[in-house]
Amino acid sequence: MSNLHKVLVIEDEQNICNFLRTVLETHDYQVLLANSGSNGKTMFLSHNPDLVILDLGLPDIDGTELIKMIRQESEVPIIVLSARSNEKDKVLSLDLGANDYVTKPFGTEELLARVRAAIRSNRFGGGVRPASQKFVLQDMVINYDARIITIEKKEIKLTQTEYNIVELLSIHAGRVLTYAEIVKKVWGYSDSGSIKKLQVNMANIRKKFGEKPGEYKYILNELGVGYRMNADTEENTE
Ligand code: CA
Repeated sequence: MSNLHKVLVIEDEQNICNFLRTVLETHDYQVLLANSGSNGKTMFLSHNPDLVILDLGLPDIDGTELIKMIRQESEVPIIVLSARSNEKDKVLSLDLGANDYVTKPFGTEELLARVRAAIRSNRFGGGVRPASQKFVLQDMVINYDARIITIEKKEIKLTQTEYNIVELLSIHAGRVLTYAEIVKKVWGYSDSGSIKKLQVNMANIRKKFGEKPGEYKYILNELGVGYRMNADTEENTE
């Protein structure tokens, strides 16, 4: 039992706590529950969890304050749980250092995929590309060494910038990256036109990938927040 990933859930709604405990324990995670911010803070400091799932709307402390506190101490992955569909809260949480968010109500598969991606991204040192590797997603293959992308074995001709965007998203597959984060990593700077520039590039990428609006297979839109490379939800966890 001791080598199970330890997940600290900070959430005041009993129903959601029960749901999370059941789902996570069924999938071999060890679950610790805290029903307030101050309780969560204490448990975080004493249990050194592998992942924190954090509700933004806590009775005593705003969840975003807790993200700041945790980030002063550690790089543990944090998934924010939010009932709010407010994009500002999501972007703020990500900017403060949360790895991802899940909007309530959420399903089991979605939650587990986020949990796996968050724990995996931490294991790879926050998304460093493994040397000499390929990324495979359905019929798409990215050859990192050759900087070539193929779909159904046909090469997709991308510009340098377009390739860099796709590569960055693939390294963080399963995780949302904010517009600002992508712009900063791809262009190295950002100005008022940067997000527009990113969106134009993304439109071209989608065209070359043959993706139609509403049926994106590879790169998902997170409206008002950023983009997420799809990650297969089925994964060998052995
Ligand atoms: Ca709450």
